Amino acid sequence: MAMTNTLLLVAQAALYFTVMMTLLQLRKRIGLGVFVCALGVMHFLETYLASVFYVELPFGIISPGSTVLFSGKLLMILLLYIKEDAALVRQPIYGLLIGNFLIVGLVMVLRSHETVSVVPGRLPDIGFVDEMGWLMVWGTVLLFLDAIAIILLYERLGTWLTRHVGLRFLICGAAVLTFDQAGFFLALHYVSGAPMEVLFGGWAAKMSATVVYTVFFMAYLRLFKDKDLHAEPLPFRDVFHVLTYRERYEDLLKTANTDFLTGVSHRRQFDTQAPALLERALDARHPASLFVLDIDHFKKVNDSYGHQAGDEVLATIARVLRDNQRSDDAIFRYGGEEFVILSARLGAEAALSIAERLRRTIAEVTRDAFLEPVTVSIGVAIAPQEGTTLEGLFERADSRLYEAKARGRNCVVGPQPETLCG
Ligand code: GH3
Ligand code: MG
Ligand code: MG
Repeated sequence: MAMTNTLLLVAQAALYFTVMMTLLQLRKRIGLGVFVCALGVMHFLETYLASVFYVELPFGIISPGSTVLFSGKLLMILLLYIKEDAALVRQPIYGLLIGNFLIVGLVMVLRSHETVSVVPGRLPDIGFVDEMGWLMVWGTVLLFLDAIAIILLYERLGTWLTRHVGLRFLICGAAVLTFDQAGFFLALHYVSGAPMEVLFGGWAAKMSATVVYTVFFMAYLRLFKDKDLHAEPLPFRDVFHVLTYRERYEDLLKTANTDFLTGVSHRRQFDTQAPALLERALDARHPASLFVLDIDHFKKVNDSYGHQAGDEVLATIARVLRDNQRSDDAIFRYGGEEFVILSARLGAEAALSIAERLRRTIAEVTRDAFLEPVTVSIGVAIAPQEGTTLEGLFERADSRLYEAKARGRNCVVGPQPETLCG
């Protein structure tokens, strides 16, 4: 009896694995949607079986729902990651999460129906419907955590077991399914008073399933010599960020805060971020410098060569600024063709020599790119000697910029008496 059940379970796992891996293998030809949809639709059977369908094995009573289908689903998610990447695998991970929550939501509404019987003697199994409730919410959250954990663990293990894909697969499956079993049992125990045997029986079954799936996976690897398996582990943080859609968010933040034409921060960022940057530098007893830079005779560039050419000059000058940016610098497009640079840890002498270098580089780069140089004038103010507030420093630097313009442009004016002009 127990022997037959074991064989039947292995047969289910073999059928499940073969069909799903065939779909995964054919994804380039038939589209990945086929695999993902098949994976999702298994969920119904999995939940139903886990709720009522139990069989006896030598080490206890288990459900094919969690043993074959749930373990299989998690390992399929890992396989999809191994064959593709985090950006792709997160789609079914989030799809399953949202779909499961949707089921719970729909079930809550369905519960309010007064049902009728159309086939004599058959009524809906309300007990089953009820199990779609909180236990399912918990299971869904667990599956989501499992899916992310199994991928991160797989990458982590890649550091030590780069070439042993099968072993990594086995360890990941065993570790995450152990976590899952413990987590799910906790809920089962508190919700329905499930005894400890359920914990160990289910755990042993999931471990066996992991071993069986690993054997299938190794056989699959042997059959289809796969070149596209990740050989080198990827940075943990990157994978996590992609899995949690964080990179999209950070990209969005960056785009929203960056000026499209020049690639530096907006004026708005200057108002919101610069005061804190300055404060932090001064709190740490570091000097800081503020540069106000304005392009010379920029109207003429626009008038002579057109607005488009003017934009190109602006972008080129901004690129010089970005290329020379230190890690303690923040660059802002303050106005149309006016930039502000806030440099932490930069005293007067170093600030002036950097400003002077920028002035010269900009003239050289624009001369090479546009045949005649476009120059800039820069006013520099130093904190804390000349002020400790952003407004005070800006006013000082801005008036020095005017002085630079008055002296014929293409100049740097700072606290020192001498002015550096080209
Ligand atoms: P000065 O040496 O005194 O600074 O002379 P200027 O001609 O550069 O004078 P000002 O700084 O007042 O010039 C601002 C001009 O910059 C006006 C506007 O036509 C041009 N400008 C501002 N923003 C943009 C932009 O995004 N693209 C282009 N092409 N031109 C811009
Ligand atoms: Mg200007
Ligand atoms: Mg100007």
